[in-house]
Amino acid sequence: MPSIISVSNLSKTYGTGFKALNNINLDIERGEIFALLGPNGAGKTTLISIICGIANASEGHVTVGGHDISRQYRDARSLIGLVPQELHTDAFESVWGTVSFSRGLFGKPKNPTHIEKVLKDLSLWDKKDSKIVTLSGGMKRRVMIAKALSHEPKVLFLDEPTAGVDVELRKGMWEVVRTLQASGVTIILTTHYIDEAEEMADRVGVINKGEIILVEDKANLMQKLGKKQLKLHLQCQIDAIPPALAPYHLELSNGGCELTYHYDTRVERTGITSLLGDLRNAGIRFSDLETTQSSLEDIFVSLVRRN
Ligand code: ATP
Repeated sequence: MPSIISVSNLSKTYGTGFKALNNINLDIERGEIFALLGPNGAGKTTLISIICGIANASEGHVTVGGHDISRQYRDARSLIGLVPQELHTDAFESVWGTVSFSRGLFGKPKNPTHIEKVLKDLSLWDKKDSKIVTLSGGMKRRVMIAKALSHEPKVLFLDEPTAGVDVELRKGMWEVVRTLQASGVTIILTTHYIDEAEEMADRVGVINKGEIILVEDKANLMQKLGKKQLKLHLQCQIDAIPPALAPYHLELSNGGCELTYHYDTRVERTGITSLLGDLRNAGIRFSDLETTQSSLEDIFVSLVRRN
């Protein structure tokens, strides 16, 4: 199936002469949740703005649903919903009014059934007659999503959907995003919260200094780059690691009470069995053990540093 968004050889140089994007190539698959990660100033907003037709590219092409974003702007833009980072809605307008108005901006005929569905999906139905000013921050965010969905887009961009939102609301937002995906909407989100990408994304793209440095299926990424650690809680404290255990490059910590072994999940032999045998031979006993896997955050930080 062709991608719903295709970005090829895209570069952007601002009027200041600053090159914010450098030869970006990226395809977004229909129906996926794609998380775009990158440090401050990496170029995420610039990329989204170009795909949404808000900013112009200096070089390259973008198609949305097969429509060229500059030559067939209206067709391309009608497929896109954008939820910007900043909340800006008419404070004294009702929820129903503001969401219906957004649909009108796209030249779509009135469709109260669709607006009702969107408000119900976002748990805003009982607030439909409330003025925006009377809503909580979380509800206002959902109104922004409802506005972006009012014209039945196929792709939804969420720019930092949970920035500054409490834990409970974040989880609620994740639920909303999953429901949208299940209804067939493709979702591209930018986030500074790596756990959000880890939780939500089917694929992850990392952008740094205007370049895409990685695009990968999340599960593959975690498996490919993921290292594991085995931590052993020792029965008796030791002063030093016996020379016989040197090949394992163990770390001794917590005042000589813990040993950590790093291993690679990709290789056939992790070395754990022989390590446990050699520990026994060295007279080191342990009372408990645990394994942990490096998180997407560890992977992200090491990628950006390397770049
Ligand atoms: P953040 O996570 O902080 O929102 P971002 O990844 O979205 O960052 P962008 O807003 O795309 O980054 O900015 C990328 C780079 O382009 C930054 O160095 C920024 O200063 C620069 N930039 C953005 N807009 C303009 C502009 N209008 N004129 C000149 N430079 C700009």
